[in-house]
Amino acid sequence: MPRIFELEPHVADLIAAGEVVERPASVIKELMENSIDAGAGIITVEITFGGMTYIRITDNGCGMSPEDAKTAFLRHATSKLRGADGLEAISTLGFRGEALAAIAAVSRIELLTRETGAAEGVSLMLEAGVITDMSPAGCPEGTTIIVRDLFFNTPARLKFMKSDRAESSSAASAALRTALSRPEVSVRFIRDGKTEYHTPGDSRIDSCIYSLFGREFSAGLLPAESSDDTIAVEGFVGAPSAARGNRSYQFFFVNARPIRSITLQAALERAYANNLPSGRFPSCALYITTKPCNVDVNVHPAKAEVKFASDKNVFDGVYYAALGAVTRSKAGSEEQKTESGKPEDGSARNLKFGAENAHNSKYNAFSTAPAGANYNSQPPPGHKRGAGFTSMQVDEYRNKYGIENAKPQNHKTSAPQNYQLPTDPQLSTVNYQLSTAAPLFRVIGETLNTYIIVEFQNGVWFIDKHAAHERIHFDALKAEGFEPMSQALITPVICRHGHEDVSVLLENAQLLDKLGFLVESFGEDALAVRRIPAEIDIEDAEPVLSDICTQLKHSGAAIPARHDGILRTIACKAAIKAGRSSSKSELETLAARVMSGEIAQCPHGRPVAFEITKATLDKGFKRI
Ligand code: ADP
Ligand code: MG
Repeated sequence: MPRIFELEPHVADLIAAGEVVERPASVIKELMENSIDAGAGIITVEITFGGMTYIRITDNGCGMSPEDAKTAFLRHATSKLRGADGLEAISTLGFRGEALAAIAAVSRIELLTRETGAAEGVSLMLEAGVITDMSPAGCPEGTTIIVRDLFFNTPARLKFMKSDRAESSSAASAALRTALSRPEVSVRFIRDGKTEYHTPGDSRIDSCIYSLFGREFSAGLLPAESSDDTIAVEGFVGAPSAARGNRSYQFFFVNARPIRSITLQAALERAYANNLPSGRFPSCALYITTKPCNVDVNVHPAKAEVKFASDKNVFDGVYYAALGAVTRSKAGSEEQKTESGKPEDGSARNLKFGAENAHNSKYNAFSTAPAGANYNSQPPPGHKRGAGFTSMQVDEYRNKYGIENAKPQNHKTSAPQNYQLPTDPQLSTVNYQLSTAAPLFRVIGETLNTYIIVEFQNGVWFIDKHAAHERIHFDALKAEGFEPMSQALITPVICRHGHEDVSVLLENAQLLDKLGFLVESFGEDALAVRRIPAEIDIEDAEPVLSDICTQLKHSGAAIPARHDGILRTIACKAAIKAGRSSSKSELETLAARVMSGEIAQCPHGRPVAFEITKATLDKGFKRI
């Protein structure tokens, strides 16, 4: 046997580095996690050439003192763990004190950091783990770390790197996963000089998802939630109809740490068991919260896996959260089927809507919009004031959707706000309220791509579909407790409105911010628009702000009037445009809202519908 020698520290460091720093993506993950642990609310990640030559992470976290900045690069130097006892209750993402040492060992690093409240910062240069320069520096509070020439001193590893493109996309998804894990942190990801995504950091899971994946993906998501004494699950799962060919859109977070887990994956997929063909996979962003002592995070080199104290508890938590969401969506689409006028045996409808309106398929088209859309503000139609479900109906319903078997002992699955479907044992006491009695009407069609023609009682009604839709949007935006969801613009839209208008908009920046717009000064007569409400298309950003400006100029000093003026403009731009043809269900949904008497005028006060009576027609034809 050859003799045993202790490796020289720098060789040991290189070997250790291999565990933590596999590729640029792992550097990004580790550095972003450090920023999060430092309490940052804003993190900017920039890479070029797949991160092999340049990675820069900037945060506004607590920063480091010059002394700490030096120590941070030593192996097993950490501020997050003192003794072995602490490992039981780790609440930070890092704790091993390895990442900075490992990254520094295989790259050239530039660190700029200033501790909160310190008069000045410090700049540190390292090459292959050795500090080559340290000097005081003027810099903002927080930390910027630049990692250049990754693996320049480990040619063997360099050889294993994939193309820049492959590294770049794995880096982007590492950053994305971390961004998604923290909706309360605003993350901007810049690849080769171009911002790819920018999360708002407003603590909302939905707006975080929206900014990372876009509108179409977000539209196919169902809110999911469950909780018991030991574990809480919240987030979104994909509708069965939006399933994908792989699992790359399944995101699980345990105590805000992105993790992979076969258990959680199986729990999710079990909930879709009868709703997906094989080879199709649901998407999800599910956030699991449990006491730190219920998970061991120290079982994987990159901390990408964890060990649960009870696999069964987390399985159940995820399963029931997803099952509740899927069941609700199934119930929604079941309604669609039976309501679109197809012959049916009436049982589902009677069960759901009560026998009174079972014959009226047109009316029930009202609820053909996806679950959660209409229902958020409107109860299903056909429910008379005070009408409830009988317990027999509840049982029948549960059997139909397998809810009885699925009902966990302690798990509460909760529906999205205001939308209560029969997944709750207290259902029999839930009464839906309908503001007006259900009228009988028939949608004849659409004319001039603008007006919906409806036969109702003794006359024909024309509905201005844009005006009606605008009103619906306006009411939804104005509803108490409504918080606008905004989208961060990857490239700010620069609006040149002229000096006066720019000052009007900037004076109202706070109000605009509350309604989902972030505008900043951009020279004398221009504005940079960085965020807009989710309802608005990017190309409409400039015209909307221009309209808002006109509104603001005419709405006097009163804040409520200004507020409503802005909402009117958003509602108008978000509404379907006259001149564009609409689907049948869109027409029927709008008609139902108007014919129920719920909507009479558009937010600007114009009527949304008017009637030509049979008498008028008869007169025109000289019948009377
Ligand atoms: P760990 O995160 O496991 O503690 P690291 O090597 O990643 O180990 O970091 C070492 C230490 O450096 C951290 O414990 C922390 O005190 C400090 N540190 C690293 N990055 C930052 C940052 N962005 N802001 C403030 N402190 C940081
Ligand atoms: Mg760390």
